[in-house]
Amino acid sequence: TDPDYDAIILGAGAAGMMCAMTAGARGKRILLVDHADAPGKKILISGGGRCNFTNIHTAPDRYLSANPHFAKSALGRYTPQDFIALVERHGIAWHEKTLGQLFCDGSARQIVDMLASECAGAGVTIALGHPVADIAHADGRFRVTINGREHSAPALVLATGGPSIPKMGATGFAYDVARRFGLGIVQPRPALVPFTLGAEDALFTELSGVSAPVEVRWNKVRFREAALFTHRGLSGPAMLQISSYWQHRTPISVNFLPDTPPDWLLAEKRARPRTPLRRVLAEHLPDRLAQALLERIGTGGELGSSSDKALRAAHARLSDWPFTPSGTEGYAKAEVTAGGISTAALSSQSMMAKAVPGLYTIGEAVDVTGWLGGYNFQWAWASGHAAGTAL
Ligand code: FAD
Repeated sequence: TDPDYDAIILGAGAAGMMCAMTAGARGKRILLVDHADAPGKKILISGGGRCNFTNIHTAPDRYLSANPHFAKSALGRYTPQDFIALVERHGIAWHEKTLGQLFCDGSARQIVDMLASECAGAGVTIALGHPVADIAHADGRFRVTINGREHSAPALVLATGGPSIPKMGATGFAYDVARRFGLGIVQPRPALVPFTLGAEDALFTELSGVSAPVEVRWNKVRFREAALFTHRGLSGPAMLQISSYWQHRTPISVNFLPDTPPDWLLAEKRARPRTPLRRVLAEHLPDRLAQALLERIGTGGELGSSSDKALRAAHARLSDWPFTPSGTEGYAKAEVTAGGISTAALSSQSMMAKAVPGLYTIGEAVDVTGWLGGYNFQWAWASGHAAGTAL
């Protein structure tokens, strides 16, 4: 006969495993289900195989959501320090790479093994390799059919993530279930995703592989990180970050000279009038990029042969270069999905649906999306912990 579970968690990813180990450690009988044949597959490929598992600068303003206050409660009750303590209890060596991003010294496999061993130690039952055939809800119990067998519990946790990287088994399953229970969905969209450029910017695809430190801006949002030109458009951390905010058919602005004042080229002209403009720019930018930008502006030559006005105009243009992406590379290349199950329907304390007692949703399935740099895993841990504590 089917053992009596206290909760069934759908999705053995970052959030589902954290939820399962937290509830299991509190004595709850947990069934953790995934259609994949192994848990935590996205963790394994994360952070280039080293898993950027948190960010020490985690704060609610580094998350996008229709309700910017929603994430505060969970993030405040399970912090990067809490996760670091867990990592250290398991003897996993880590380092800060840049901008507060923490990575394993070894491999992302260590994080998956850590979560799996915590689940095992907490008596969590794991069912892998079978799709969820059916979900029913009656008399205060959720009934889930997997591999021809029905399991039931008074609580169900949706932790199946978002549709980014379908090749890895990602689905919109959580949205379908949420809709069936009457929860709202904030229009999902690919986020942390490279941009594509249209025909008018085709010139830039010749720069494929060139990277430069820039400041990118969209409306009032700014990121100062590296941008990378690709054969399809623009990528690199600066572009991925701004893509989460970007709206179709609007321009982004790139400052290729974020470290120079407006009259920088004039000062250079006084100091070294015989030096070509391109050579001066190449002290701040890759030479190929400097050349491509100057070709587009239609200036060049020795600094001394340009008027002050022309140099000021060139600097202004290089500091505020508009690109209107034709689109993004979509879910196939998106590191996360923005939007998702509306937080309006959820308790920020427990992650439970206010109108459906016993139904919880956590992680990327929810309309909370972090910046690049470990923020998304921190949300998965924090929301998973919040539900795991409340179950
Ligand atoms: P997931 O980890 O995606 O887990 C969802 C689980 O549900 C999966 O195991 C899936 O198999 C299962 N599932 C889906 N549909 C069904 C279904 N119908 N039935 C049963 N099971 C189902 N974030 C960071 O913070 N740092 C990083 O370094 C980082 N690197 C990334 C690199 C890449 C290439 C990608 C794609 C993402 C990266 N992210 C990173 C984002 C991060 O992986 C996600 O935000 C995080 O995994 C979300 O956790 P989750 O548990 O909500 O969902």
